[in-house]
Amino acid sequence: MMENEKDYGAPAFEQVYVALSLLDADSTEDIAAWLNENGFANLTCCPRCHVDDFTHVEGCSLARLLKGVETTETKGEEVY
Ligand SMILES: [Zn+2]
Repeated sequence: MMENEKDYGAPAFEQVYVALSLLDADSTEDIAAWLNENGFANLTCCPRCHVDDFTHVEGCSLARLLKGVETTETKGEEVY
């Protein structure tokens, strides 16, 4: 188990991370690269598994959540 009890202690940060991660996946721009270049590299770091550039360790619960969103989008249904 790789549960981090502490995380960043901020659910709001998790929401910001998810929003940026979705934006990165959705955009033709490399959002992660832009954030890294402009001093916001920590925003690309997963609050749960702590891997940066919007990537995750295998089994990260937040990655599974994000994959779920992508799956519904590829079905052709607009999820807004
Ligand atoms: Zn993660």
